[in-house]
Amino acid sequence: MQGNFIVQAWRKELRKQVLIVGSVCLFGYSIGQLLPALILLIGSYVLFNLVQLHRLTKWLAKDHASDRSAPPEGFGLWGGVFDGIYRLQKQERRASAYLENIVNKAQESSAALEMAIIMVDRHNKLDWWNKATESLLGLRYPEDRLLPVTNLIRDPKFTEYFSRNVYDEPLHINSPGDNGKRLEIQIALFGENERLIIVRDISQLHRLELMRKDFVANVSHELGTPITVIRGYLEAIIENISDLDSKWEKPMIQMHQQSSRMENIVKDLLMLSALETGTLSRKQSSFALIQLLSEIVNDARQIFAQQDHRFSLSCDENIEFVGDRGEIYSAISNLVSNAAKYTPHQGKIEILIRLSEDFLEVRIGDNGPGIEAKHLPRLTERFYRVDASRSSETGGTGLGLAIVKHIVNRHDGELTISSEVGKGSRFSCRFPLSRVKTEGIGIAEADEMTETPATFMDNLSKAPRH
Ligand code: ADP
Repeated sequence: MQGNFIVQAWRKELRKQVLIVGSVCLFGYSIGQLLPALILLIGSYVLFNLVQLHRLTKWLAKDHASDRSAPPEGFGLWGGVFDGIYRLQKQERRASAYLENIVNKAQESSAALEMAIIMVDRHNKLDWWNKATESLLGLRYPEDRLLPVTNLIRDPKFTEYFSRNVYDEPLHINSPGDNGKRLEIQIALFGENERLIIVRDISQLHRLELMRKDFVANVSHELGTPITVIRGYLEAIIENISDLDSKWEKPMIQMHQQSSRMENIVKDLLMLSALETGTLSRKQSSFALIQLLSEIVNDARQIFAQQDHRFSLSCDENIEFVGDRGEIYSAISNLVSNAAKYTPHQGKIEILIRLSEDFLEVRIGDNGPGIEAKHLPRLTERFYRVDASRSSETGGTGLGLAIVKHIVNRHDGELTISSEVGKGSRFSCRFPLSRVKTEGIGIAEADEMTETPATFMDNLSKAPRH
């Protein structure tokens, strides 16, 4: 449409020009003044175009944001140029009004949010933030703009979190301004290494969580003594069971078993509470891992003597672990006794320690029944059991793996679980090298470390059972 219009305008203009040039030539020729007539024509043409250009530049020089006047009337092709520019200007005005409207709406809605939203540029400087940021973090606009974000949130935990480039988990810190507040911080990367920081006030949730932890700790503490007393009396009664009527024998034995279970649950709950609330004092020391593992294996051999499992232990003698020996003992022995508990008679239980260039891995594998994949993500939840009846038969509390996860996390490590039904399970704790004293120790080759869960479990399940 537009193309047709332009072609027609050009044709019209060309016809007009040919007519003018022809008439001037004819006139000049008829009076014998062809050259001066042509010079006069060219001069007038240049002058006409200069006048049009002058009108256009004068109009363009106006402030079009405040003065929206129409362009001057143009002649010939110039009229089309003026109209075209005016049309483009109107289109641009409409587009920028639309964008302005969107930006205003985004700003209004972000101002209505209770959470703080901060944009940080690729040089880690504060670029933009919403209103809630001012009350939550005390930022002031425009004074704090372009200041490094770590200058304003000075918590070392935040600095460490911010410098990571992976933000799978949110960070919880106390508010830098008001210590009574607890904040949850989540960062998302966007654009060219820019970051969006979202901060939520979770003080209420935090208080409830503290109340829950206190409640569990208090209840467990209060229940501890009565249960120990009851179990003690039941133990004494069972020792002299022959004095009782035989009809009491079964109930007494069951009561004794259940009270022992309750005692174990209370002990585990107390341990979990202490780990969660951080009331457990950390006794950091460095100790030989092989010695600790040998103790665990010997204990497990004795406790599960009837099962007649075959334990194998592979660990470099020189590896020293830096951490709380009691806690690490508890975590690894939990995993080893789980492997022994859930693996049927004469199973194979393998404890493997490997040191790579990046981490230390403590791996406990068994060729037991395995765990269905759907249970794996929930295994470390409190009281989560794959099979409640099997667990209570084995005296499990459902708290063991929750304790293991806490201890491993407290030592900057990570617990991963892989399993295949019918083949076995593998529990792996990976610790950073800062937890290891490495003097004179060989590092495992990379491909040695990349053994897949399937091949690991295959090897275990191929092991002959007697
Ligand atoms: P529990 O005290 O019941 O053993 P845990 O938290 O230690 O509780 O373990 C949770 C559940 O995970 C157990 O109930 C059991 O079903 C499953 N589980 C743990 N370790 C193994 C294993 N080595 N083989 C098979 N299942 C296991």
